[in-house]
Amino acid sequence: MPLIVRLPRTNITIVWSVLVAAVACASMPVQADWHAEKKALMGTEISVQLWHEDAEVAQRSISAVFAEMRRIDALMSTYKDTSELSQVNKLALDRAVVVSDELFELIHRALQFSAVTSGAFDITYASVGQHYDFRAGQKPTTAQKRALLASIGIANIELNTVDRSVRFTAAGVRIDLGGIAKGYAVESAVALLQARGIEHAIVTAGGDSRILGDHRGRPWGVGIRDPRNRQQLAAQLPLQDEAISTSGDYERYFEADGIRYHHIIEPATGDSARKVRSVTIIGPDAVMTDALSTGVFVLGVKKGMALVNSLAQIEAVIIDARGVMHFSGGLQTDAVAKL
Ligand code: AMP
Ligand code: MG
Repeated sequence: MPLIVRLPRTNITIVWSVLVAAVACASMPVQADWHAEKKALMGTEISVQLWHEDAEVAQRSISAVFAEMRRIDALMSTYKDTSELSQVNKLALDRAVVVSDELFELIHRALQFSAVTSGAFDITYASVGQHYDFRAGQKPTTAQKRALLASIGIANIELNTVDRSVRFTAAGVRIDLGGIAKGYAVESAVALLQARGIEHAIVTAGGDSRILGDHRGRPWGVGIRDPRNRQQLAAQLPLQDEAISTSGDYERYFEADGIRYHHIIEPATGDSARKVRSVTIIGPDAVMTDALSTGVFVLGVKKGMALVNSLAQIEAVIIDARGVMHFSGGLQTDAVAKL
């Protein structure tokens, strides 16, 4: 398993020694002032780990994180008929739907990521994507794809910044924030922890994590899963005060006739994106890393790495369709071997 060292900001020798400590600590029992909890929420596993001397403050803070996750889920889930987003999907073709500032802002940011990724990240993927059911092994029919492919495209969404409304300008449009909302949720949760005076924490929702501070004197060690072996890590990264998101073709999928149908959809075709197996993005903000991990997954190694290397403060590890790992310019993998 390669251990990854970031080039520009770190002293490699120091990082190596703390890395060993961080990896070792993953298997040690949580110490008295560390507090942790996991729950199934937002269709995924949410976990919080934080450090605070006062166990009561720690517990209240953890409860606040889960409450925040539930609040965001109630607002943005497409699985809940009552969510604000479901209302938009139901009504926005007939009329402009005024939404909360929070939902408006996140849709606005999602559209900006479409521009950044040349359309690879696109929340209107759901126009076709809604007809996949990965648990039931269902995919859209050829007729559905043909009828709805033109409904994909951010040109079909009109955002009015004056009254903060959303309108669809074409039939069949449906939006889904599954590629960005978990990042938003962990970012919001960490902001809330910070406001409560917490200085060391990690909040994870599925493949999206936001790290606050360090692990009390050393970096946190965050693993990247081997896409074809759930029990195994492909790599381990030392991180502090950063966000990390992984998008993989192994999270939600089924196989039919030897083809893997999974939850990351290529907006141009309405089919699952198959250029890579997983994309991990590291950056300052989990909204950004979440959207980019999904978008870069669609773009593949060549275009995806070119994009990552053009963006300040963003790094990536991509595992391609053959299982080969690729690293962005700011990550060095052979430093460990040389020590
Ligand atoms: P992630 O695990 O963050 O990569 O997000 C995957 C989720 O993003 C899927 O389950 C969908 O809800 C959504 N999604 C799938 N394809 C796209 C796409 N091309 N652009 C934006 N969101 C997508
Ligand atoms: Mg994502």
